[in-house]
Amino acid sequence: MLLPAELIQSLTAIRSFDKEAFEQVHLSGEQVTSLRINLLKPVSEVAGIPLGECQPVPWAEQGYYLPERPSFTFDPLFHAGCYYVQEASSMFLEQALKQTLDLSGPLKVLDLCAAPGGKSTHIQSLITKDSLLLSNEVIRSRAHVLRDNIIKWGAENVVVTNNDPKDFSRLEDFFDVIVVDAPCSGSGLFRRDPDAIREWSPDHVQLCAQRQQRILADVWPALKKGGILVYSTCSYSEEEDEQLMDWISRHLEADPCSLHADPHWGIRETVAAMGGKGYRFWPDKVKGEGFFIACYRKKEGGHEPPLKVKKHPLALTKQEKEITGRWLPTEGKLFIRNQQTVYAWPLEQASLFSLLLEKMRVVYSGLKVGELVRDKLVPDHALAMSTVVSPVVSRAELTKEEAIRYLQRKDLLLNGHRSGWTLALYEGHPLGWLNILPGRINNYYPKELRILKDI
Ligand code: SAM
Repeated sequence: MLLPAELIQSLTAIRSFDKEAFEQVHLSGEQVTSLRINLLKPVSEVAGIPLGECQPVPWAEQGYYLPERPSFTFDPLFHAGCYYVQEASSMFLEQALKQTLDLSGPLKVLDLCAAPGGKSTHIQSLITKDSLLLSNEVIRSRAHVLRDNIIKWGAENVVVTNNDPKDFSRLEDFFDVIVVDAPCSGSGLFRRDPDAIREWSPDHVQLCAQRQQRILADVWPALKKGGILVYSTCSYSEEEDEQLMDWISRHLEADPCSLHADPHWGIRETVAAMGGKGYRFWPDKVKGEGFFIACYRKKEGGHEPPLKVKKHPLALTKQEKEITGRWLPTEGKLFIRNQQTVYAWPLEQASLFSLLLEKMRVVYSGLKVGELVRDKLVPDHALAMSTVVSPVVSRAELTKEEAIRYLQRKDLLLNGHRSGWTLALYEGHPLGWLNILPGRINNYYPKELRILKDI
């Protein structure tokens, strides 16, 4: 693995950089695999490895290192959304949020650059049920991947949008927290993805730094006074890290926040020229990839404007609500309709959801329950992936072999089940819907998500 000489040269000025150890760790071929458990769908093993045999990630309560990289594709629990495979250093976001905020109360959180959803699923696990996470991605195809990962995670307090950062000026003084996990030159991932080395150049670093400034300037008005900005990259370059902190100090009215990191973790504090404090993750010092994170508290801002929702979405009729109520409990939820599609929103956040629908390009919100067809509801895959399907709905526990066939969207032979819509389960965790008919079973696993490989 030949690291760009210009990158190495540019890093030598950084105090915590150890050239020899850094080059060695890239040459060693060592790979670190880590994941985070979804507390909505707890498990005690992943891909056949008991969690008891996995080392915890010390800065993330649900984070684990695996002793080897298993095949996640052929682990049904991966498809059930029981865990998210995520690089360990980036899980330090948990410390940034825990150390700067009171996470026990309702918060409005924006994850601005969110696809594919690692940080969003993590944030969702850390906030309360009555908090709101707006998970945004500017690139449309990536916003769809983000939506699918949010659905798989199974939460109901998330709205997924596909907006440009500048669109957030429509939500002035709105968020308690904004996370900008910025698009960057990506040097921090060289060990995992050597192909990324070819795309690296000093010009690209400059371009990324300018884009990062633009993104921060665009989204800044949407943060409340006293709100927290979390800025992170997976780049080692000072232009995107310390110099970006200096740009924040010069252009945004913000106080830097200090974070505590146990010295045993190997994370290095870095202080920018204008006093900003950042945290560097070097793969030769930390069990994880290259990462940088810094937090700021906004000094100035207006007052949170009162919510003025002009257009409320269509609510269900009594009969439609009764039909929907056969599938999930209705308390604490507002059911809305977009043509025939029914969504469930958390009742106490319904006005916020309406406002977002009015102002942003929403690609997903709350929980998509299904389609109303005459006097029936055809359940959506998202309902299966949630944790709220009524206990009266039929369930079929599958063996591992059957679960893989189900996820490949192949035919299944199951005996002894009632006909009708049935949740396909693996180890008690839903994978999706089956429709059991006399003499036939229809597999409703979404075509675009199916496993294409054979074991
Ligand atoms: N936060 C994600 C996670 O943890 O899974 C990873 C985000 S990745 C580092 C940066 C994201 O920013 C990408 O999804 C990329 O599409 C998006 N992006 C690219 N250009 C952007 C721009 N001009 N404004 C906002 N986001 C952008």
